[in-house]
Amino acid sequence: MKPAIRQLFVDLRVQDTPLARDIRQRLAGVPVELVDGPGEVFRHVLSLPDPVAAAKSVLYITRNQGRFIRPCPGTSEYTCCGYTILHVGTFCPMDCAYCVLQTYFHPPVMQLFANQDELFSELDQVLKARDPATRRMGTGEFTDSLVWESLWDLTPRLVERFAAQDHAVLELKTKTVNIDALKGLDHRGKTILAWSMNAPRVVREHEKGATSLSARLSAAARCAEWGYPLAFHFDPLVPYPGCEKDYREVVREVFARVPSERVVWISLGTLRYPPSLGQMIRERRPGSELVLGEMVPGLDNKMRVFKPIRMALCREMVEEIQAVAPEVTAYFCMEDQEVWERCMGFWPGEKGLSAYLNQSAVRVCGIRE
Ligand code: SF4
Repeated sequence: MKPAIRQLFVDLRVQDTPLARDIRQRLAGVPVELVDGPGEVFRHVLSLPDPVAAAKSVLYITRNQGRFIRPCPGTSEYTCCGYTILHVGTFCPMDCAYCVLQTYFHPPVMQLFANQDELFSELDQVLKARDPATRRMGTGEFTDSLVWESLWDLTPRLVERFAAQDHAVLELKTKTVNIDALKGLDHRGKTILAWSMNAPRVVREHEKGATSLSARLSAAARCAEWGYPLAFHFDPLVPYPGCEKDYREVVREVFARVPSERVVWISLGTLRYPPSLGQMIRERRPGSELVLGEMVPGLDNKMRVFKPIRMALCREMVEEIQAVAPEVTAYFCMEDQEVWERCMGFWPGEKGLSAYLNQSAVRVCGIRE
């Protein structure tokens, strides 16, 4: 998957950085405008008919003014995994109907941060400090981790940086198959390649621009051959009639294609969205099943799948994972104690999920206890 950029904006403050120069060369022929801050970019995107769709062909190279490394915001009232975000850019050229980034940024703009020297200096400090709160980091929360491979060489640099320490793992989460730059790197098992998975019907109907499930699994199998640890994220699980059978088949397909001992974790999360995203789905995709199901407000004010339906689907997934790969760590992303206990058979506690996942990274990736 290669972003189809039709308009490039470059922040005046970063125009002489290696990244800005390199991207301008790689996008030769694409109109470029130098701007004095994001205002001009926002005005351009908002002037277009469907700003969210239009923003997927507009790229803004700028500097990250805040911290590159920050705790995942999680959500109130639900068990959070204590993840750390490596904030390298925002938004994404693919167009998943349920993508929370559509309303997370106002307006959504694809940005890549050119002050990467500051990113690495912050990363060095955090890794040296060996803070127990920063053992699992990832670039895939505010963008797709591998969708920018045709525009930059950040990924191999991050993989090499994580390979040089034994405190933390880097997770690259993607719906692409852009793995070529990972081949031959001396990663020492400290980078996890993670794919978002879903039922084929959900991929077909709601993940516009993303690669097929089969392509994702082929890429995962190649990364396993190159020695990388793997992860899979079934999020959002979307209920529809017969979905249980489809999701179980995907779980079986995963473990038919990749060795279970390479899998660090599998996350499970049912469909949920803030009211603003529900409104956007209704506007951009009238009649979408994503907003027509039995959704009720959760404790965090997000709309969630009605709990009995949610628990039934979670239980099916856990059963299938335990049947085909009992040694693999499965966890719920943003679920409550009752769902954990009734579907997984235990609850790790408010603070325990982080330790539970760290143990898995110790076992599969070889970070220190
Ligand atoms: S791939 Fe991820 S970041 Fe990109 S649109 Fe889909 S959900 Fe959003």
